[in-house]
Amino acid sequence: MAKPRVAIVGLGIMGGGMASRLLAERFPLVVFNRTPEKTKRFAEAGALVAKSPSEASAQADVTISMVADDAASRRLWTGPEGILDGARPGTLLIESSTLSVDWIRELAALAAKKNCEFLDAPVTGTKPHAATGELFFMVGGTAAGFKRAHEVLSALGKQVLHLGPNGSGALIKLINNFVCGVQAASFAEAMAVVNASGLDREQCVSVLSGSALASPLIKRMLSSMATNDFTPNFPLKLMTKDIGYAIKEGASCGVTLQTAVPALDVFKHAVSEGLGEQDFSAVVKSVNKD
Ligand code: NAP
Repeated sequence: MAKPRVAIVGLGIMGGGMASRLLAERFPLVVFNRTPEKTKRFAEAGALVAKSPSEASAQADVTISMVADDAASRRLWTGPEGILDGARPGTLLIESSTLSVDWIRELAALAAKKNCEFLDAPVTGTKPHAATGELFFMVGGTAAGFKRAHEVLSALGKQVLHLGPNGSGALIKLINNFVCGVQAASFAEAMAVVNASGLDREQCVSVLSGSALASPLIKRMLSSMATNDFTPNFPLKLMTKDIGYAIKEGASCGVTLQTAVPALDVFKHAVSEGLGEQDFSAVVKSVNKD
């Protein structure tokens, strides 16, 4: 059976990797990006380039959005020539960006009015995982929508999990990134203590990287520090956004995320120092002043 035509709206670090993967897996592809230059390499590789989000969704059986935040997503779905304008009834619409649960639920209702199936399907994994089909999709929506999405999402991810109704994927993603953000901020402070204390830095790094602390996240931070390379895989400004959204979701569940509040301050401070476009691991540079 012919593969469905997929539209990817948003060709940043993650959307760009996902689009490459779909082309490699021979899915017919249409792309849209606010900054048109980023579409060029996909056009050269055989993708159709849409002039607007609505033109992208009008040509697709499955439309996936992968953009920065709620504001970007709202604009692309509901703004002038938005995805919802172009989407044909019965097509499958997927929002894979990390967004607030409130916006996801609002968007799901708008998609239902267009008689489209809608899933929230945010991901864990980062730049290399997007390009190699090794993401982990956390999906919210109907069981029928989940089943329909499987062919495309399983080409993009090594794990695709249905968590419940719309908003379920968005919520678990924010819970995940809340803990990641707190861990990253506290590790940056830990390194500040090491640096200020006169302890042997290399020995300390060896101890910390061999201990229970050494999660994949901390290993990524250690690797960025070792190579002094903070090229973004996951931009710091987006981690800041996620911690903020997580605090709001916690509050709406009646839970105060007390550890997230100072972590958010640490990340906001790093953004104010101009580190927002660098990898999230650059938070160590903000906390550690030589
Ligand atoms: P990115 O490289 O910064 O790309 C952001 C994308 O959003 C670009 O296509 C950008 O368009 C578009 N965009 C931003 N503001 C916009 C606006 N106002 N209107 C229209 N388009 C707008 O980000 P990313 O790393 O790919 O992340 C995308 C999403 O995935 C985010 O929600 C992020 O939290 C999530 N995520 C990221 C990672 C990761 O490791 N990077 C992992 C898991 C989840 P332009 O090209 O025109 O700027």
